[in-house]
Amino acid sequence: MGRIQLHDIRKSFGAVDVLKGIDLTVDEGELVVFVGPSGCGKSTLLRMIAGLDQPTAGRIEIDGTDVTPRSAADRGLAMVFQSYALYPHMTVRANMAFGLQNTRMPKAEIDTRIAEAARMLEIEPLLERRPGQLSGGQRQRVAIGRAIVRRPTAFLLDEPLSNLDAELRVSMRAELSALHDRLGATMIHVTHDQVEAMTMADRIVVLRAGKVEQVDTPLNLFNRPANLFVAGFIGAPG
Ligand code: ADP
Ligand code: MG
Repeated sequence: MGRIQLHDIRKSFGAVDVLKGIDLTVDEGELVVFVGPSGCGKSTLLRMIAGLDQPTAGRIEIDGTDVTPRSAADRGLAMVFQSYALYPHMTVRANMAFGLQNTRMPKAEIDTRIAEAARMLEIEPLLERRPGQLSGGQRQRVAIGRAIVRRPTAFLLDEPLSNLDAELRVSMRAELSALHDRLGATMIHVTHDQVEAMTMADRIVVLRAGKVEQVDTPLNLFNRPANLFVAGFIGAPG
């Protein structure tokens, strides 16, 4: 579960073509990283996959089913934003429970899932605190926990580490990779940080001005960049 296919995805805002025909398959359990300069369309593309916005044209399939007409709630995916997306007036526990409350899930099941995610992320002592009482790294773990409790078929992470300081970013990279191994779920991770992409990804998708420049493993991208843009962006000798 969790195979995501994009067929000729296009998105325009007014006269501006932001996504210009994206074709891509993300395999089940894969960790794919979208990289590219600011404004190239990474967030827009992720929002289309999540169902938070509709493409102007194109088709999105999850496990072979066309989900393009479906809303975000009916796609079974979970999106993680930067840490400030937590509700400040709610406890960590309430933040994590929020996405499950309208699902008729029994409270005992919600509690079990929260306990399990909290254990995995080592945030058990923080469950009754509010986001304002947490460090940046702790807040980011809560944001990830909120996604985990939903048991999504895929995680979509939009620059989840960009608000963290350099040292924490490096350790959270490793944590996220470990979590990916442990959950075995598909992950699409967006970043503008080349090192983050190179260290985490099974495959990297290099985007530029709404188009895919190259898709490959970090090693192959480094050794055989398709053009100077990719070489420059990846930091390869080119
Ligand atoms: P990235 O995440 O790669 O930095 P975005 O996907 O956020 O880039 O944005 C890509 C382009 O689309 C930018 O030029 C941005 O201004 C434009 N854009 C994004 N969302 C909207 C919107 N809702 N309305 C108009 N333009 C938008
Ligand atoms: Mg963005």
